[in-house]
Amino acid sequence: MIVGVLAVQGDVREHLRALDACGARARPVRRADEVEAVDALVVPGGESTTISKLVEEFGLLEPIRKRIAAGLPAYGSCAGMIMLAATVLDGRPDQQGFGGIAMTVRRNAFGRQVDSFEAPVALDGLDGPPLTAVFIRAPWVESVDPGVEVLGRVADGPAAGRIVAVRQGNLLATSFHPELTGDLRVHRLFVEMARAGSKTMEG
Ligand code: GLN
Repeated sequence: MIVGVLAVQGDVREHLRALDACGARARPVRRADEVEAVDALVVPGGESTTISKLVEEFGLLEPIRKRIAAGLPAYGSCAGMIMLAATVLDGRPDQQGFGGIAMTVRRNAFGRQVDSFEAPVALDGLDGPPLTAVFIRAPWVESVDPGVEVLGRVADGPAAGRIVAVRQGNLLATSFHPELTGDLRVHRLFVEMARAGSKTMEG
């Protein structure tokens, strides 16, 4: 099973490293033929407006949209979460995404003055202590449709209760950046989902 990491902008290397450490075969994806060659895809954090522009320029927007709609397992962190959202608030009007998760996300939701912060987040389905979630100009999930599983929320502070991790079928998204912490549990969860998902795709 090959896990691709969309490599147009953002923290690509950190995701490749985390996936490698989970025992997955990880490789960067920059071209449409590379989209076709992966069994799962990670969409890294960075800047969703820039990622949007670059995937259009590189002819990746439609191929990735199509594969996700056809069941490709995908995981988006931060800007990647925005790219997987059906609806984006406070985006640029021309911003494009891959869609896939029936949710509404708000860009830079924690406020511009709160550039980055860490907070413990307990994720449903993960063993062990809460994750140390690193938020960098992060989105939150404003609302989800039925069928989207809420996996984690901010525990306390002004944003207490806000949804920051979700799953819908083969698709996983977090507002935060587990690739920056050395804690492999989220990547492991995704690799397991992807293994299960690609088996289903093979029939
Ligand atoms: N604020 C960024 C955006 O709108 C996301 C930040 C991140 O990925 N760290 O895409």
